[in-house]
Amino acid sequence: MLAFRPEDLTLPNGHFIGGAYVQGAPEMEVRAPSTGQVLATVPRADAEVVDRAVAAARAALKSSGWGGLRPRERTAALHRWADLIEAEATTLARLEAVCSSRPVSHAATGDVTITAEQIRFFAEFADKEGGDLVPTGDGSFGFIASEPYGVIGAIAPWNFPISMAGWKLAPALAAGNAVVLKPSEMTPFTALYMAELSVRAGIPAGLVNVVLGDGAVTGTAITGHPGIDKVSFTGSTRAGAAIMENIARTGIKPMTLELGGKSPMVVFDDADVELTAQCLENGILPNAGQFCVAGSRIIVQRGIADALAARLADRFARHRPAATWEDEAGFSPIISEGQLARIDGIVRDAAANGGEILCGGARFDHEGSFYRPTLIGGVTAQNPAVTEEIFGPVATFQTFDSEDEAMALAAHPTYGLCAGLFTRDLSRALRLTRRLEAGTVWVNRYGRSRDHILPTGGWKASGLGKDLGREAFAANRRTKSVLIDL
Ligand code: NAD
Repeated sequence: MLAFRPEDLTLPNGHFIGGAYVQGAPEMEVRAPSTGQVLATVPRADAEVVDRAVAAARAALKSSGWGGLRPRERTAALHRWADLIEAEATTLARLEAVCSSRPVSHAATGDVTITAEQIRFFAEFADKEGGDLVPTGDGSFGFIASEPYGVIGAIAPWNFPISMAGWKLAPALAAGNAVVLKPSEMTPFTALYMAELSVRAGIPAGLVNVVLGDGAVTGTAITGHPGIDKVSFTGSTRAGAAIMENIARTGIKPMTLELGGKSPMVVFDDADVELTAQCLENGILPNAGQFCVAGSRIIVQRGIADALAARLADRFARHRPAATWEDEAGFSPIISEGQLARIDGIVRDAAANGGEILCGGARFDHEGSFYRPTLIGGVTAQNPAVTEEIFGPVATFQTFDSEDEAMALAAHPTYGLCAGLFTRDLSRALRLTRRLEAGTVWVNRYGRSRDHILPTGGWKASGLGKDLGREAFAANRRTKSVLIDL
């Protein structure tokens, strides 16, 4: 039984620094999007608190020798951490569900278990990925050493709080670093509890530090801190740009940026209508469309457009909202009233600019911030619903005749996160995979699998660098070229 009452949960509160909770003045309200109720008021880390966390991370690296341990010892510690996360799955799932858009059953069987799985995946890189010997002349000996950075400053979004914390923490720790992590101000609880569990698992205290706060104060203090050796960020393109600017202003340091998207799902008329409708629905509606790779632009060849639009509108209309703490998962809430108002504003703008609302287009008549699955047809390439990342359960529906037209519609002027292609023609799929400007292309499916070896990351304004895969481990190490004259 996973269902719970929010008032019965014990919520962790305070920053987690050097293995212990550090309290501060309560400044920021955390709300439940399922009802709007205030769950807790948490402190906001200012530059001084961030400085304490960075100092704790440095001290822990030094006293534990984490970066220089036999790599298998790091692997073993990370596996113990994954064991504890699995053992505490119910608690973690409830802490995740209470303040986010994740239904508790999905959090328990999906987000929490996948996070443990990913920790194990990265743990196994620790003793397998190293440097390289390079061919130099007989008179010298050259090699490329691979070393951890030191302290990684990680900043995560609210939409999958525990997974995003795991994406940042697991490769950084496996690669021998310490971390100062800032979860989103809207979803702080699971990151705190994971940090607690890391210490119980025997990962030296101070290697995982969590500071609470917003972007303007706490985030800026992290990205500009001279003791942070690398920044790893996931969030909006707008915040990514602000981070680049702050890093340029305060001293250059490397960064990985996983940013926004406006991804197309392109369907050719040889695709199976029923199967494709199911894939498209799964490409936009999970988490109420609040995921970076959401396929928010559906682009369909004219021959099956009417049939597919009708099938989708029918599927979209079947969803029913439910509070995230109910046993049976319902349609997810929008994270905040402010975000719901933004979504509704774009939908109204879309209609005012000639768009036809094929279904949805309004909030659910239900307590909390719930918005109806919405499909908008008749849109031009300039329509705001086509150009802007909405981050809600809203997809546009456009039609094309030729491959060239499909590719022109699929291209976005700034974003390049993902794209989906639906066709039974293998040659066409391979040809178009090359033409799509995106960091990931899915063919006859849409969405990430549990193949953590596939890196994820955007092209163009969708990001810089990769999470997951070998690349994420490598992104947490830096290389040193050594040349010795014999
Ligand atoms: P956001 O950019 O508003 O916030 C993300 C995090 O950055 C939060 O912790 C926030 O406090 C912090 N932040 C904000 N401004 C900052 C600044 N100037 N300096 C430092 N930190 C700052 O994004 P969000 O609303 O939490 O998440 C949604 C966005 O995240 C969407 O654009 C989505 O596409 C993107 N996202 C991308 C991926 C990916 O893998 N590419 C994954 C998940 C979410």
